[in-house]
Amino acid sequence: MPDSLFPESLKKLGLHRWIDLALHFPLRYENESQVWSIDQVSPGQFAQIQVQVVSARIVFRPRRTLLVEVSDKTGTAVLRFLHFKDAQKNAYVPGHKIRVLGESRRSLAGLEFIHPRTRSGWLSLDQLGQQPLLPVYPTTAGVSQLMLRRAIARALVSALPSEWLPHKILAAHRLMPLDQAMRLIHQPPADAESTGVMRQLMDREGPAWDRIRFDELLAQQVAMRRARGLRETERAAPLGADRLASQIIAGLRFQLTAAQRRTWTEISRDLQGTTPMQRLLQGDVGSGKTVIAALAAAQAIGSGLQVAVMAPTEILAEQLFEKFCEWFGPFHVDVGLLKSGLGAKQRRELLMSISTGGLPIVVGTHALIQKGVTFSNLGLVVVDEQHRFGVGQRLALRSPVDGRMPHLLSMSATPIPRSLAMTYLADLDVSILDERPPNRQPITTKLMASARRDELVEKLTDFIAHGGQAYWVCPVIESDAEEPLQAIETAEAWLAPIFQEQLVVLHGRMGAEEKRLAMQDFSQGRRRLMLSTTVIEVGVDVPRATLMVIEHSERFGLAQLHQLRGRIGRGAGQSTCILLFDEPLSDVAKERLKTLYETDDGFEVARRDLAIRGPGEVLGLRQSGIPTLRYSDLQLHAAWVEQAIEFGAKWVDRQAGQASESGGVSIEALDALVDRWAFDKKDVLASG
Ligand code: ADP
Ligand code: MG
Repeated sequence: MPDSLFPESLKKLGLHRWIDLALHFPLRYENESQVWSIDQVSPGQFAQIQVQVVSARIVFRPRRTLLVEVSDKTGTAVLRFLHFKDAQKNAYVPGHKIRVLGESRRSLAGLEFIHPRTRSGWLSLDQLGQQPLLPVYPTTAGVSQLMLRRAIARALVSALPSEWLPHKILAAHRLMPLDQAMRLIHQPPADAESTGVMRQLMDREGPAWDRIRFDELLAQQVAMRRARGLRETERAAPLGADRLASQIIAGLRFQLTAAQRRTWTEISRDLQGTTPMQRLLQGDVGSGKTVIAALAAAQAIGSGLQVAVMAPTEILAEQLFEKFCEWFGPFHVDVGLLKSGLGAKQRRELLMSISTGGLPIVVGTHALIQKGVTFSNLGLVVVDEQHRFGVGQRLALRSPVDGRMPHLLSMSATPIPRSLAMTYLADLDVSILDERPPNRQPITTKLMASARRDELVEKLTDFIAHGGQAYWVCPVIESDAEEPLQAIETAEAWLAPIFQEQLVVLHGRMGAEEKRLAMQDFSQGRRRLMLSTTVIEVGVDVPRATLMVIEHSERFGLAQLHQLRGRIGRGAGQSTCILLFDEPLSDVAKERLKTLYETDDGFEVARRDLAIRGPGEVLGLRQSGIPTLRYSDLQLHAAWVEQAIEFGAKWVDRQAGQASESGGVSIEALDALVDRWAFDKKDVLASG
């Protein structure tokens, strides 16, 4: 079927081609061939009941709601509608017979259906037996199930892909043929219920789903391997090992840890190659990634090339700038900071020295990738806290100059789980800093109900009087009448009289210069209590600060709390993090706070975060640029992932060796596979 006939309205769902429709699988199925009596329905079950309307009324508290009471011989149930037009109420006439289809739940009032579908009239026994199993597709407002069902049924006729795997492989791996798997999932046969197939489909398990996942994971692998192959044809300037790096190491106030030395060796070796490096340096907060970036920069400068260092916030850029100045200053290497709020003349001069190549290192935020910034001979790009950037932003600096691509070093504190790393690795090298600098005391974490805030302030007064430095973190700047939270405003009004000139405030609504001064006052110890929002979450490094109070810690995610807490425990002093919380705590919040209480090891925190939220959420996979999997989960389906890696390696790499076919799979078949799943090259290349 030609694309010109493709229903325009479906594009809202991100569906653009007939094959996209064929791969748009149902969330669940509705079985209208069965009717339940009210007393048989258990909460959480999807059920159809045939009932009579008892009453229909609109209530206004706590919000406008249409409540329809219905009953059958065995009991009563309530239908609850939150979005409705007044006229809808008139459709429910007391005494009328209706069918109700939906998911039930138990409420104080008894059995309840929220936004069920209702039909007028009952089905006869004969009719009941003939109702098909209906797929229910993910959709958004404005695209009806009916329309989707029709369009998908059409796609299954015209766009069902033919089998591309050789017979031998299908048999050896007991894979269901592709067309059969797709048909089964979209249109289960009437007997699916009795054969147990329905159960499998509902759970997204069994041979049909295995086959879909095989294809999806393989498509991802093939796309990533090819991207890697492409990258290997790119050329970069080899950056020879240079004295400058060794000199910087010799000048440090500390010894590199073994992990730092190891990762530095890996990076230094990559930089000497003629293939552009694309390496992720992964290490928990405080593990000392910055100095490694500086060493890489030194190697680039030694070869006469420029370095761009990009950070997600101005505060962090400022800090990196200061660190780099400290380390490079003694060797008379200039470092520039491209920030907002520069005077026109200053900015012009800075841009000029970047474009002439006179400035070897430039630190900045995404201002670095704006128009008007051109490098004369960029050799290395460093992206700090890389997960904070969008794909396009990370990619922007990675464009060739005179046919040569700069090397790329990205850094992140968010660990990638092993299974994910395996796919990620198809296009990215990873170095891991798994050791903390010595003399670090573990952070003590305490949980405290916010009612005890006053008590805490007494202790804090004492702590500050004895020369301590602390952070006090609030979730919001202003409080909101609907949802009263401890806000910067209120906390400031309360803390300022107590701490007077010791207090400094920092939040995202302040101007860049104001922020810079606040940060400077605090990091140089002139002010000793910093009241701030989560703007300090990323990268801020003030080793003398050893106490942190986090208001409403129940509001934050696990990774975020860990990052915040990572602002302390950076020096030799014993650090304490106090998590204030408001009761009642949800189960998830309890789980999060318990995790933080029990461990301050970032990898362990990440592991539990994954267990609570899943990798897609944790890593923000969309933004991370890892081609997103729709039906496979790298952890849940790890066995299929390994298969895909194995086949991917065999097929793609052999083809790279010019064979037009390998193992009976043609290049065209792999092209079509990648295309079907729309793993486009740009996404893949951006994964670094
Ligand atoms: P992150 O990995 O979170 O970016 P940083 O690079 O900011 O960590 O390092 C945290 C702190 O540890 C900094 O003050 C840094 O100077 C210091 N540091 C880094 N490496 C070492 C080391 N080997 N020994 C002692 N201190 C170190
Ligand atoms: Mg850092």
